[in-house]
Amino acid sequence: MPSSDNGEIAPPRQGPPRLQELAARVDALAGHSMVLEPSPAERKHLRDEVVDYAERFLDGLDFGKTYNETDDEGAGIADYPISETGRSIEEIVAAIEECVDRPSLNPAAPGHLGYIPGGGIYPSSLGDYLAAVTNRFSGIYFASPGAVRMNALLIRWMAELIGYPAGAGGDLSSGGSIANLTAVVTAREALGVRSADVPRTVVYTTRHVNHCVGKALAIAGLRESPVREVEMDDRYRMSVRDLNARIEADSAAGLRPFMVVASAGTTATGAVDPVGEVAEVSQTHGLWLHVDAAYGGFFALCPETSAQMQELQRADSVVLDPHKGLFLPYGSGALVVRDREALRNAHLHVAPYLRDAWTEEEAPSPADHSPELSRHFRAMRMWLPLQLFGVAPFRACISEKYWLARYMYEAVQRLPHIEVGPEPDLTVVLFRYVPPECAVGDGSPGDVAALNAANEELISRIHADGRVFLSSTTLAGEIWLRFAVMAFRTRRRHADLALSVVRELVAEMSEVAEPAGAGASAG
Ligand SMILES: *Cc1c(COP(=O)(O)O)cnc(C)c1O
Repeated sequence: MPSSDNGEIAPPRQGPPRLQELAARVDALAGHSMVLEPSPAERKHLRDEVVDYAERFLDGLDFGKTYNETDDEGAGIADYPISETGRSIEEIVAAIEECVDRPSLNPAAPGHLGYIPGGGIYPSSLGDYLAAVTNRFSGIYFASPGAVRMNALLIRWMAELIGYPAGAGGDLSSGGSIANLTAVVTAREALGVRSADVPRTVVYTTRHVNHCVGKALAIAGLRESPVREVEMDDRYRMSVRDLNARIEADSAAGLRPFMVVASAGTTATGAVDPVGEVAEVSQTHGLWLHVDAAYGGFFALCPETSAQMQELQRADSVVLDPHKGLFLPYGSGALVVRDREALRNAHLHVAPYLRDAWTEEEAPSPADHSPELSRHFRAMRMWLPLQLFGVAPFRACISEKYWLARYMYEAVQRLPHIEVGPEPDLTVVLFRYVPPECAVGDGSPGDVAALNAANEELISRIHADGRVFLSSTTLAGEIWLRFAVMAFRTRRRHADLALSVVRELVAEMSEVAEPAGAGASAG
């Protein structure tokens, strides 16, 4: 009624004065707020600019730096304050490129071998695009049964992947940390831990568990729970014998052993705890077994490791990170729980303003299985690529990384002055530089302080070089560098580049340490 074809607003001329006044006020504001709905031509312009930049970004990945040390660290973003009036899309895209995408780590790059990478497959961005454009409300079945069914289907697929029975449930979260938190809360409720019990409610894990588990315990009200650091074997896997001994000792002391948190792929070394044997112990003593498989879970897809990952079905709950093992962009974690009811019991709350939404559900509402109500429709970014490609290329890509990590493990130990850690369980390769002056007769490293200083120096040289990105960790106080081979774009040529970067920089450093002709003794 109020708007003519050319977009101008006709003043209301009929009705009681009060209504005319209100209508005029509303219409005047609509004249300004209409900007929020660009015309088809404007949409095309915005889209073209964004897509052009995305294409340029993707085309540059193979040649650009993986890590870019800059002086400004993106400080220029402050020149774009949030203000009353807008800017052109050209200006905005330029700011993103200059201030956000240029400095520091490029996790989309094939040279990203730090932490646990993934990469971010392109069709996920199209799933996100559609999810945002249509804005389906995926938290409640009533609002979008299709979105909720899609969500449930993906959870079912992951549950089946690890061999869970039909009664399993789960949740798609923003990442592994939140999924681990949801698991801890589920365990706490399932085993009826009351606040008064917390100081005697014991948690068992290893020193290598991801730090988000400690965070989750604290947030879940279990800050005062004793946490036992179970011993590890020489490949950094949980010792089942020590786990059993500690549970028995705590029981005998009148404490309540509550939960074991095992890891299927620790972040530091990629070690996979012996989940089957751990399950045996934890079942015998009536504990909840949670496995953080944020990194390793999708290795269930690949033939080399699927048998090992089938042990996950013995756990009560398992976390997987599709933004690692399925190469999705950041913002995708997942929890699967063997007994869906346990997850629901811990998270179901009702509200009177949602009364219309209480309907018979063919698929469980995510809002009843997580702390979130409104949520990003994150199923779409996972479902669309799985539909588009099928599972086979994902399986191949994980296997490729598995063998590429072995290739790098074999190659890096053949470089001069390099020592490697244990053979990788998954795709994290540990190595370090042993400078000539640190090498003692039997080949074992001597002075730890000097060794650490040398590796600190090597990692900062690798960062300054920037062609590839590695991260380091400490194991029993000693610094080790890591190749974490999990970015889907990392191919053998990038592995070779990483190896030559290490070889070159180590050569530079050993020349300094061992001036030509000085003949520093290696033993
Ligand atoms: C990455 C990781 C996490 C944390 O997950 P986010 O998705 O970063 O929140 C937890 N556990 C393990 C083993 C991980 O590798």
